[in-house]
Amino acid sequence: MITDAIGCVTSGVYCEGDVAELLAAEGRDLEELLSAAREVRDRRFGNRVFTYGFAYFSTHCRNDCPFCYYRRSNTSVQRYRKDPEDVVALAGSLEDSGVDLIDMTMGEDPVMRDDGFGRFLSLVSRVRDAVGIGIMASPGTVPRELMVPLREAGADWLACYQETYDRTLFGRVRGSQDFDIRRDQKTWAHAAGLLAEDGIMVGIGESTEGRARSIVDMGLTGCDQMRAMAFVPQTGTPMFACDPGREVDEIRAIAVMRLLCPDRLIPASLDVDGIAGLPCRLNAGANVVTSIVPSEGDLAGVAQHELDIANGNRSAEHVMSVLGDLGFEPANAGEYRRWMDSRREALR
Ligand code: SF4
Repeated sequence: MITDAIGCVTSGVYCEGDVAELLAAEGRDLEELLSAAREVRDRRFGNRVFTYGFAYFSTHCRNDCPFCYYRRSNTSVQRYRKDPEDVVALAGSLEDSGVDLIDMTMGEDPVMRDDGFGRFLSLVSRVRDAVGIGIMASPGTVPRELMVPLREAGADWLACYQETYDRTLFGRVRGSQDFDIRRDQKTWAHAAGLLAEDGIMVGIGESTEGRARSIVDMGLTGCDQMRAMAFVPQTGTPMFACDPGREVDEIRAIAVMRLLCPDRLIPASLDVDGIAGLPCRLNAGANVVTSIVPSEGDLAGVAQHELDIANGNRSAEHVMSVLGDLGFEPANAGEYRRWMDSRREALR
C-alpha cells in the first residue's frame, strides 16, 4: 500500500525500499503521493512561491560531461561570455521584475577561474552592490578556500549539482571529475555561511532504486535546496541518441523530495518543459520557480537553451501571471531574505 510508504517517509522512519516504491507510483497511488506532497508544501510555505531569475553569463566550459550541450568538445555551440556591465544591468532588470534571486551561472570557464577566480568574485560583488535580491553562485566546482571570499563578495548560495550519487554512474556522466570534491561543495559552502543547492538528473541510466538512493543521499548532505530535472538529450553530445528522461519520473522525484525534506526549497524548473511544465511541478510540491529568463537579454537556458525564451514565456511577468492563475502568490524579496536568514541561523 502506498499509504504505508508515504507514512514511513513522512515520519522519517523509512528504508530505501519505501522511497523506491513512491518513485514507481502509478494511477491512484501517484495521485495520493502528489496530494501528500502538496499538503506538506502548503503546511510549510502556504501558497507563496519564490522566483529565481537565471543569468547564464558564460557558456564556456573546460569539462566534457557527455550529457551537456555546453561540453568542451561540442563545436556546434555558439558560446558567449557576457560583459560585467551587461550582467549588472540584467540583475537590475530582474530585481525590477520582482524575482527574489539572481542565479549567476557559468560553465567551468577557464577565463573566469584564472587569477584565483578574481573575475568571478568581482562580478558577484558588482551585482551585490547593484541589487538587493538574493544571489546564487553556480560556477561549477570551486576550491574549498574560495567559499569564504564568495560569501564576502555577496553570494548567498552556492549551487553545485551532483546529478547522481551512484559513483559508477557519476563516472559515466561526469567523466574524470572527482565525486567527493563535487559532493563536498555543499559542506564547504555551509562552513562559510553560504546556503547550498544540490540536484540530480532523472533518466540518465539509473534504476528506480538507484534514484531512490541518490535522493536520500542528496537529502543527507543537508543542502537547503534540492532539485530533480529530467534528462534532455542534446545535439552534438555523446548522449544525444539516449532516451530522454520522463516528465513523470521528475514529478515523482519532486514529490518524494518534498516528503523526505519538508523544510527545503524544491524548484519547478522551466528548463525542461518550459512554462507548460510549471503546473505539474507545482502540483508535486515544488515551491520555487527557477530558470526565469528575460526575452531581451540574449541569454541561453541550459537543458533547453531556447525553449520559451524569445516568446517571453519564461519572463518574470509571464511566470507571475501564470502563478496567479494557478492560485499561488509570488513571494517578495523581503520574505525570501527572511527565509534565507532563518535557514542560515538554523545552520549555526
Ligand atoms: S554540465 Fe557543467 S561542468 Fe559539465 S560540461 Fe556542462 S557546463 Fe561543463
